[in-house]
Amino acid sequence: MNFKNFPMVSKVVFGRGSFNQLGEIITPMRVNERAPFIFLVDAVFKGNSDFCSKIPLLYTDKIIFISSDEEPKTSQVDDLVEGIILSSSILPSGIIGIGGGTILDLAKAVSLLLTNNGSSEDYQGWDLIKNKGIYHVGIPTISGTGAEVSRTTVLTGSTKKLGINSDFTPFDQVILDPELTIGVSKDQWFYTGMDCFIHCIESLNGNFINSFSKTYGETAFELCKEVFLEPLTEKTKQDKLMMASWHGGMSIAFSQVGVAHALSYGMSFLLGTKHGIGNCIVFDQLEAFYPEGVKLFKKMKAAHNISLPKAVCAHLTDLEFDIMIDVALSLEPLWENAIGKDWKTQITRPLLRDLYSKM
Ligand code: NAD
Ligand code: ZN
Repeated sequence: MNFKNFPMVSKVVFGRGSFNQLGEIITPMRVNERAPFIFLVDAVFKGNSDFCSKIPLLYTDKIIFISSDEEPKTSQVDDLVEGIILSSSILPSGIIGIGGGTILDLAKAVSLLLTNNGSSEDYQGWDLIKNKGIYHVGIPTISGTGAEVSRTTVLTGSTKKLGINSDFTPFDQVILDPELTIGVSKDQWFYTGMDCFIHCIESLNGNFINSFSKTYGETAFELCKEVFLEPLTEKTKQDKLMMASWHGGMSIAFSQVGVAHALSYGMSFLLGTKHGIGNCIVFDQLEAFYPEGVKLFKKMKAAHNISLPKAVCAHLTDLEFDIMIDVALSLEPLWENAIGKDWKTQITRPLLRDLYSKM
């Protein structure tokens, strides 16, 4: 038996208002005055002077605002890396990602590609990264993906949507400040929060489950039920969902996701559907795989008056269905976790076609 020895986030601070400590946290990590900190910040904060004034810029430090309308692409990572290299004579002191899963993943990928040659596309997969990235910090502003704690950065390339999974991917520092999530719209709060809920369902009901993952998964699952079904104050919901996201991410680190993620990756690759909403559209149709989880999901959806887009696959051609099905079926570990070693006897192309047709 060979047990994987996983790295974790090295340092983490939790607390409402802890974002104010960013300056004192990163200062000791500055290499020298010529090596800037590069802040990759969700464009939703552009023009928010109260927020931006808290970003501690010194010397040649720079903020790059990035829209998260689209999920991270390998080409986008490569462009960002090239821009950073061209604008500074030496490597930056650090990359600080401030935003949701999209920005956190970009920050991780940029940090890795600054010290690993070639295109980010060359590193999609498992343990392909050779060199340690530069110091990278993750500061989530919306809760649910677990990207703040995971050892992957999910990128869409020319041929696949796949993570750069490596021991060098996790953040060196994470700042968990629930106050940063205040401006999130209700629908987006639900979609990204449900990503966490679905991580729990897939992890807890998978074949790879073990006591380590179960402990984290059960904690996140209970927190999600409280946040989405109990009458809590806004502050308490923000705090609890941020911790649910962390625990949900920890749970899948030592297990795996399942059917919903396999299908939603396929959908996202073809249609560009974003992860949170895509997972919701898919999970809504998965009673056969996760009966209790889907029942709870529908209850939460009703409690918050969420109406999901319908018939997103209705107009697709045979070829397009095939593309989604190919991507979904390529994610073997997810199926093995959800169904078992003999998953190929049960998960057929017509079955997936039928499921996608309902979405
Ligand atoms: P996101 O980062 O795409 O953000 C969703 C929306 O919320 C955006 O419009 C953004 O501008 C907005 N937003 C974020 N913070 C806000 C705030 N405080 N106020 C107002 N608006 C705010 O969404 P997400 O669901 O967090 O991330 C999805 C991405 O995460 C996908 O690319 C997915 O592949 C990735 N992901 C990564 C992992 C991982 O382990 N690396 C796990 C799951 C998902
Ligand atoms: Zn997810």
